[in-house]
Amino acid sequence: SDHGKGEHASLARRRAAVLPSWLDTLYSEPIDIVSGSGRHVRDAEGNNYLDFFGGILTTMTGHAVPEVTEAVAAQAGRILHSSTLYLNRPMVELAERIAELSGIEDPRVFFTTSGTEANDTALLLATAHRCSNQILALRNSYHGRSFSSLSVTGNRAWSPSSLSPVQTSYVHGSRRRGTPFAGLDDAEFTAACVNDLEDVLAQLHGNVACLIAEPIQGVGGFTAPPDGMFARFREVLDRHGILWISDEVQTGWGRTGEHFWGWQAHADNGPPDMITFAKGVGNGLPIAGVVARAEVMESLEGNSISTFGGSPLTAAGALANLEHHLRNDLRGNAREVGAVLRAELSEAEALPAVGEIRGRGLMLGVELLRSDGSPAPELAAETTEQARARGLLIGKGGLEGNVLRIAPPLSLTEQEARQGARVLLEALRVSC
Ligand code: PMP
Repeated sequence: SDHGKGEHASLARRRAAVLPSWLDTLYSEPIDIVSGSGRHVRDAEGNNYLDFFGGILTTMTGHAVPEVTEAVAAQAGRILHSSTLYLNRPMVELAERIAELSGIEDPRVFFTTSGTEANDTALLLATAHRCSNQILALRNSYHGRSFSSLSVTGNRAWSPSSLSPVQTSYVHGSRRRGTPFAGLDDAEFTAACVNDLEDVLAQLHGNVACLIAEPIQGVGGFTAPPDGMFARFREVLDRHGILWISDEVQTGWGRTGEHFWGWQAHADNGPPDMITFAKGVGNGLPIAGVVARAEVMESLEGNSISTFGGSPLTAAGALANLEHHLRNDLRGNAREVGAVLRAELSEAEALPAVGEIRGRGLMLGVELLRSDGSPAPELAAETTEQARARGLLIGKGGLEGNVLRIAPPLSLTEQEARQGARVLLEALRVSC
């Protein structure tokens, strides 16, 4: 039930007393979400919000989608956990679905409980398969918070340890203001990144295991390379036998509207050897995983299970979620409603603090700059607060924290897109 201001303040104090300070709460006054429906959520004080962040893109089809809730409740009533050591129907059916959707030939799926563990697994597979701990990753990347996944995370704000179990070399591969290739046109940018990749490879001795990359960098502020760049990368990687891991934790499941996976914007030389997925597939349930070519997946000798990965509870929920998504063509919806949202937001381009508005589908970033052209994290923070005060939840990102991240559930309606855009424009006008 709703509780008042006093209890809210007390919860914030109790949180600080037991949880680490680096566990971010986004708002100066933390928000206490207690329920949701469709594209809306409600806090403990009874305030309603239009959700343009989907709990960091974890909400794919919407909040409290009946099919998902029912599938989880039914499974919870039968059994919560029966381990991957036994046959598990929801897990097998979900794996079949994902294998079919992956675009990978002769695919195998391994389930984990988080995107971090999925990337960790992909790195384990790549290093075992190639017998090498040399990894390529993109500058400004984010791949998770485990020892190995933060070791391939270029964004120092989100990799708070520089100790590493792997040898990572960072290459250029997303267009960002202030970086050397930012001003180049698409073809020149791609050529410059390919040269950089070749140069880095020329300096490395011995085998390199893999390149891990986000098709559109999520935490990095929705920065991306030109379409087709990874296909050119692939030509170079293939010459060295280096595997390509596409981290689709944010870009998967039709988020970008045009494609089901982010790598498909580079499809003239796809698919990747491995795709990692998380977030949206469970609509909030902790399920994630890796889909890989069998030859790569079978590189491990010995047993390796994730106790909770692919548990019947999360797999049943994810399966219902994925079926709901496909039945309602939410990828198509992301493309159409994303275009409406993008058009509505174009008014913001007139504001002096608004730099680039970028992204695709329902993955849109708004870059905020100071009058001298430098990143303006303070304006992003203020806009986020002002949007909240007006009933709209958005996210932040970018190396400097100056990019607003907009990633609503893929079921967003046109009317909600217009309403949210109106609120965001207002928040931007009062903040910037
Ligand atoms: N990869 C990407 C691209 C992500 O955005 C995230 C989460 N922000 C992760 C991996 C890690 O996922 P998780 O938080 O589920 O471990």
